[in-house]
This record gives sequence, structure tokens and C-alpha cells, in this order.
Amino acid sequence: MSQTAQISNQTRRWQEMDARHHVHPFSDQAALAKKGARVITHAEGVYLYDSEGHKIIDGMAGLWCVNVGYGRSELAEAGYKALKELPYYNTFFQTTNPYTAELGERLAEVTPDGLDRFFFANSGSEANDSMVKIIRYYWSLQGKPEKKVFISRKQAYHGVTMTAASLSGISAMHPQAGLPLPNHAHIDFPYWYGMGGDMDPNEFGVHIAMKLEEKILEIGAENVAAFVAEPVQGAGGLIIPPDSYWPVIQEICHKYDILLHADEVICGFGRTGNWFGSHTYGIVPDTMAMAKGMTSGYQPLSAVALGPRVGDALHNSGEEWSHGFTYSGHPVASAVALANLDVLQKDKLVEKAGGETGEHFLKHLHALADHPIVGETRGVGLLGAIELVKDKKTRERFEGDTGGLCRDHCFENDLIMRAIGNTMVLSPPLSITKAELDELFTLARKALDATAKDLGAM
Ligand code: PMP
Repeated sequence: MSQTAQISNQTRRWQEMDARHHVHPFSDQAALAKKGARVITHAEGVYLYDSEGHKIIDGMAGLWCVNVGYGRSELAEAGYKALKELPYYNTFFQTTNPYTAELGERLAEVTPDGLDRFFFANSGSEANDSMVKIIRYYWSLQGKPEKKVFISRKQAYHGVTMTAASLSGISAMHPQAGLPLPNHAHIDFPYWYGMGGDMDPNEFGVHIAMKLEEKILEIGAENVAAFVAEPVQGAGGLIIPPDSYWPVIQEICHKYDILLHADEVICGFGRTGNWFGSHTYGIVPDTMAMAKGMTSGYQPLSAVALGPRVGDALHNSGEEWSHGFTYSGHPVASAVALANLDVLQKDKLVEKAGGETGEHFLKHLHALADHPIVGETRGVGLLGAIELVKDKKTRERFEGDTGGLCRDHCFENDLIMRAIGNTMVLSPPLSITKAELDELFTLARKALDATAKDLGAM
């Protein structure tokens, strides 16, 4: 939408209120206040509608989360029923509720084998933050309290609380709050297109995985608690690991007795074509974080799943565990999560992401590789990345914010595609139809054409 165009008085009123009082996440506050935020008023299926009557196709499923698509009445009704029956009660004082009790059982059916205990929280950040406390406690119970260092990856995104932001390797997230906290270290990530040079992808995958061993030896295995990573690094550039990567990482974790935490906040609930990214890549994590697709974003809810090693230790510690949120195991969020699981299963959305929908998505995605400014396309399930380059052979980039330019062209054409540096990213609802994918990719190509024209490359 052109922000200079005439807008309605109602929109202007919302924008003014918002500009005065709403502190936006990850935004230049004054710049946004001046420009005026786009007001999204409703959504249906894969489409968002704004207050100026635009119909926008959401190629990002919100923030990678609306897996079942917008407007599913099953989720709304489940939430409404729970709101009437039990809008709230806590799970601290020897109480539970039917929704949360059932949710644990249903999650255990779809998570990787052995991960069958769940601690509930409200966001991905809280899940990762809780995981750090659980794992530190685990090592303390083992008589190894000095195992406190968490190794994660550069460019990784694991959330914004002090600890989750410290796990995150996006360095721009650190200076404003004087982060990372002590006991965090970051290693390279398997970005073959950007860093692999002439290496074969699998050779590169091993090379990068070995950085974990180097870091463990540098810190001392006796001080390292866990390695933390997403199966596919999402907000950190949509990095799909070479096949060789995860087996070596797991071998190193075993060799040095380091726990492995999979952050499945994006990859979970079908995104990579299986229930979890750990299934797709044969990862056997000790602990796992989930959020987003757990309720398709209809309610805030997250969990840390515990495998037998950590789960049994916590279960049998013989003392009270000092951790929990007011809203841990919230009945309404749990009810919505159950309805979300029902829809994923009834509509076979996970199978489709790994089957016909995913195939159609990847066919369209890879067809963009012929575009003059596209250097690489990569995808898995319903995750896709498009690398924007000036020179396909040398992988040289254009100067300036090419991704931002392309994203703005998408936005003008009523398509949401995210830019991460020079990488365009797609993560549409798993419920997207083939016809909607055709429409999405027609708009994506149009935006690429417009970007190329601006850059004099077409
Ligand atoms: N982990 C990953 C992999 C994420 O992508 C995100 C959010 N994008 C988070 C954690 C943090 O989740 P939240 O924003 O719900 O705190």
C-alpha cells in the first residue's frame, strides 16, 4: 500500500492512536509512527485484509505460525467453549485441567520418540529460557553444576528474553541490552550458498559441524551444558543443512556428553513436511522447544518437551522444582491447541506439506531459479528461500538492501514475503491450495521483476 495515498479517516485514527501509544517489536518507533502502521482488520484462509480494503496473500503465515490458515471456526469454538467452562485456573498447586492433561498426551503421540513430558509456557522465548533453567538444573542434579555453557549458532534466532536473546546469534540483538549473558557461545552455521565457496555441500556440512567440536574443546566439555539449534535455521536466513550436518553434530554431542536442544518453534507442526524438523533430519534431541504452529498462533502457547534423560531426572529429583508461569498450562490455549491438532490431523496438513502441497510449492520455488537476480532457491516442506544476487556465477550481491526493495515490491502487490538480508523467505500456511500457490508465485515473480528493473538487471 502506498503510504502517501489517501487513506480513510478510520485508518488514520487507528494509526494515530497506535503511533502515540503502541511500542512496536523490532521497529524504529519514530519512523513507523511517521509512516503509519498498516492496520490488519481480519483474515480468512491464506488472506489478510487491511482497513483500506486490500486483500493480501500471506506468504509467511503471520510469523511462521498460522499453520492451519486463518478463520478456522473449530479453533475459535474450542476456545470459546473453554472460556465459558474454565477461563483460567493455574497448574501450580496440585491441580490440572482436562484440556492441558489431554494436550500432553496428544503431543506425546506426535513428538519424536521419548519426548513425552511437557512444560508449558506462553512463547518461544519462554520455552527456550525455561529449557536453559531445566538443563542447568539437570547438570546440577548430576553433580556437574559447572556444565553451564550453551553453544548455539551465529545468526540464530531463539527469542528475546535475556537468555533467549543470548542464545540467539544475531549480533544486532545484543548491544542494546549488553548481551550475550555469560556462558553463551556461538559457532558458524551451515550456510552453504553464502559460505561454502567451492566446497561440496556435504563436505561443507561436516566442516561446519566440526566447529562444534572445536568450540567444546576450547571451552572444555566439563563446562558445556548443551548445543542449541533449529533443525532448519529460520529467521537466521532459512538455512537448510546439508545431509551430512546433523549426523556429525549428534556424534559430537554424544562424544562429549553435551545435551542437544532442538528449537522447533518454526519447524514444528508440519512446517518441514513431517511433524517435527527432528523427524525430517533424523535428530534425536534431549529437549525440544515448540510454539507457533502448536496453536497456529490463535492463542499464545509454547512448551519444552523433555526426553527420558532430562525428564526422568526432573521427575525424580525428590524436591520441588522452582519454576512456572501464571499461565503455564492455560486451559483456553490448551483447548485451542487440541483443536489445532485435530485440524492438522483431519485435513492431513502435515502429510500434504510433505506431499502434494509441498511438492507444488517446491516446484514453483525452484522455477524461480531462472530469474536473472536469483542465485539459489532452496526449500523443504513449506519453507522456501530465494537468494538475490547480482552475479549468479560469483554469487556477488547487489549493493544496498536488495531484500528490503523486493519485500516492498511484494507489499505493493499484496503479497507478504519476508526479507532476511538478501534472502527472500516464504513460509505460507500449510492449508494453502495449489491455486493459491500459483497466485503467490505469480506475485513473487512480479516482485522479482520489479526489483531487477530497479537494479538495472532486467
Ligand atoms: N525460536 C525460534 C526458532 C523462533 O523462530 C522464534 C520466533 N520467531 C522464537 C524462538 C521466539 O518465539 P517467541 O517470539 O514466541 O518468543
